[in-house]
Amino acid sequence: MSSGEMSRRDVLKGLATAGALAGTALGSARAQTSSAWDSIVIGAGVFGVWTAWNLQRKGHKVLLLDAWGVAHSRSSSGGETRLIRTEYAGNEFYTRWAWESLAEWQALSRRHESPIFRDVGALYIYPRDSAEIDRSISMQRALGIPIEKLGVSEMAKRWPQIGFEGIAVGVLQPTMGALMARRSLQTLVADFVAAGGSFRQFAVDPPRSTQASLDAITGTGGEKLSASNFIFACGPWLPKLFPEVVGARIVPTRQEVFFFAPEPGDRRFEGAQLPAWVDMSSKDLHYGFPDIESRGFKIALDAHGPAYDPDASDRRITDQGLADVRAFLARRFPALARRPLAESRVCQYENSHDGNLLIDRHTAWANVWLVGGGSGHGFKHGPAVGRYVTDLVLGSGKAEPRLALASHRVHD
Ligand SMILES: Cc1cc2nc3c(=O)[nH]c(=O)nc-3n(C[C@H](O)[C@H](O)[C@H](O)COP(=O)(O)OP(=O)(O)OC[C@H]3O[C@@H](n4cnc5c(N)ncnc54)[C@H](O)[C@@H]3O)c2cc1C
Repeated sequence: MSSGEMSRRDVLKGLATAGALAGTALGSARAQTSSAWDSIVIGAGVFGVWTAWNLQRKGHKVLLLDAWGVAHSRSSSGGETRLIRTEYAGNEFYTRWAWESLAEWQALSRRHESPIFRDVGALYIYPRDSAEIDRSISMQRALGIPIEKLGVSEMAKRWPQIGFEGIAVGVLQPTMGALMARRSLQTLVADFVAAGGSFRQFAVDPPRSTQASLDAITGTGGEKLSASNFIFACGPWLPKLFPEVVGARIVPTRQEVFFFAPEPGDRRFEGAQLPAWVDMSSKDLHYGFPDIESRGFKIALDAHGPAYDPDASDRRITDQGLADVRAFLARRFPALARRPLAESRVCQYENSHDGNLLIDRHTAWANVWLVGGGSGHGFKHGPAVGRYVTDLVLGSGKAEPRLALASHRVHD
């Protein structure tokens, strides 16, 4: 049995541990507050957790840290659901990463009782047909990804709860769907801890070193932690920790998310009857999810909101944002336009200038790695990111230029 395939007893023990993850020190870290680790991963969002898990599977002694806890409310990974799809407008790199990651998310989901992946499907709807759509479909089919192109009359028959005004064509990815974001990371950290990894709630100060490498990080209570490698996967906080090296290469923006309660007994908006969807009919696309685990029908606008401070900015939705999504619902999902708002969230994207992730070695310290720039689409790639970073840290990976610091411009 590999370290990732534990017995049910281990898993349940792990999940019990996961419930306590919001607390303080966990696992062997309690007794080893100042020992040297092979790798310390800072940030228990999707990138940090998959990196810690992969490094540990390669034999590293790993400590995972987070200032507030795994997938906490203000982290970018702390939402209810995240879409996984391989539709990337023909971008083969991210299509492959998403496809490879799906298999790992599914494997994680199979190892646990509470679902982590919901195969509700993903539907893209477009205002016009185009050669670009066909190219993307062909590329995905060549990779073995199931995908269907649909006309409006076919879609209207399958999903009468959607209004297809202004839409010419749809692309359905039947094997894609929703990742249960927060739960998936709590579960993976529980696996990681059960297999010998350590997790601590620990806030790291911006690191300092006049050498060519970093010996230790300092944080909560002035405590120092040393390691051979440090991986900073700090999402929207990366610019604050590395103002010179990252700075405005990553800009967090404010994003509002809404959940609406369907009519009692109206099951048309559940996952069995409605896929996750992305509406490409305007530049600032809307996307959403069916009602999963009774949280309500989820909808959000992908357009980047104003610049946002993950520590200090207001996390209340705006009246304008709510009015805008209601206007969209009236057109696309009319049965929901006047339904009560069941829940709402304000989260942040951590945008690179062109949407590429940022994964690279620090420019001055050879044993420090920077991982972030999820740009509103990073969650699904967690497993691929974890493998990629692990290979770089172990010196066995080939660096992908589009992810390098040198390719990331400072935002205007
Ligand atoms: C509303 C919304 C919808 C999205 N939808 C999708 C989607 O449908 N599909 C998709 O694939 N992606 C989606 N994304 C993007 C995706 O969620 C993010 O790209 C991803 O979660 C980023 O993960 P991360 O690990 O980089 O950052 P985070 O999840 O923010 O994790 C960083 C962690 O670092 C910790 N940290 C920071 N500073 C310190 C410190 N000094 N010391 C210790 N710990 C520290 C933080 O506490 C935090 O937990 C969406 C994002 C948002 C906001």
